[in-house]
Amino acid sequence: MTLPDISQFDRAGLERVLAEAGEPRYRARQLLRWLWTRHAQSFNEMTDLPARLRSDLQGRFVIAWPELVAREISSDGTRKYLWRFSDGVTAESVGIPSGHRLTVCFSTQAGCAMGCAFCATGASGLTRSLHAGEMAAQVAEAARDMGMRASNAVAMGQGEPFANYEATLAALRILNDPDALGIGARHITVSTCGIVPAIDRFASEPEQFTLAISLHSAVQETRDRLMPGVRRYPLPRLREAVARYASSTGRRPTLEVALISGVNDTFEEIDALVEFCTGLAVHVNLIPMNPVEGSALSRSADARVRAVLRALASAGVETSVRAERGADISAACGQLRQRVGGS
Ligand code: SAH
Ligand code: SF4
Repeated sequence: MTLPDISQFDRAGLERVLAEAGEPRYRARQLLRWLWTRHAQSFNEMTDLPARLRSDLQGRFVIAWPELVAREISSDGTRKYLWRFSDGVTAESVGIPSGHRLTVCFSTQAGCAMGCAFCATGASGLTRSLHAGEMAAQVAEAARDMGMRASNAVAMGQGEPFANYEATLAALRILNDPDALGIGARHITVSTCGIVPAIDRFASEPEQFTLAISLHSAVQETRDRLMPGVRRYPLPRLREAVARYASSTGRRPTLEVALISGVNDTFEEIDALVEFCTGLAVHVNLIPMNPVEGSALSRSADARVRAVLRALASAGVETSVRAERGADISAACGQLRQRVGGS
């Protein structure tokens, strides 16, 4: 039997592990530092822990850092990583440098069950959910490789974070913990396809994590076609959840719209989008759809992107167009899949 990986625990989880061993809670801090700032490979290295605790942990857990299988470097400095976990499952993360900042986009699942029509990850289905340590390690290892501190982290790689809620939250807490990665909560963003009960739950978490919601269309029929996995959360319910989130947290969520030629950039679509967003405390992020192999869908022309931008702006909706990074190595949004060598 393989022992569980200790990296899956956030501070509260480590405190439980320590309590089971009859040890004081403050040692969680030492464990977090060994794991996340010193990248310990074994419990033996943890010389400031009592020998009896080290041998207790050794009998109950492993330390299983992911193995780097492939790395590609874009002409703009973006790096895409393919990681292999101890059971052979793989997932990708992307490091995006910008001046002295480093944003790491990480995966929350290997594959995804939601089946969105425009997404390379959705095409292959779900392999399995990742645990918190597997998520945080994608960020820590990318930062180590780039020789930078991760200043921002986004759960926008493979997978639907809210279909793996608890592990994702533990990962966000490891990323945020000053004794682990120390990334400010507001610099940690989760993107969801719109699982309404989880949006409400996320609003009640004590940390000020940032939320992005993939909207893609404010026309129900189009959204159902593009995002079959969230048909059971129709647009009026989603809109109410967005409004509740904004009013209860005082934070403005981002609505993401990947613009697809002839699908969600028509006049009817733009009108519906403007109507959906008007009066909501949101920021809209327009993403010209990135090409996905084997998909008949293609990105909107620049003129259409500008038309959507203008329509939203003139209705008073705060809107931006996402700058594309790493497209030459298929590292851009929605291009991540599980195979080696990109596509
Ligand atoms: N499952 C989550 C997070 C991962 S996807 C979600 O769907 O929100 C991260 C972002 O990339 C989402 O906004 C998603 O809709 C977007 N995306 C997926 N495929 C894309 C593509 N081909 N072009 C542009 N954006 C895409
Ligand atoms: Fe899954 Fe998000 Fe891709 Fe949809 S866009 S298939 S929810 S990863």
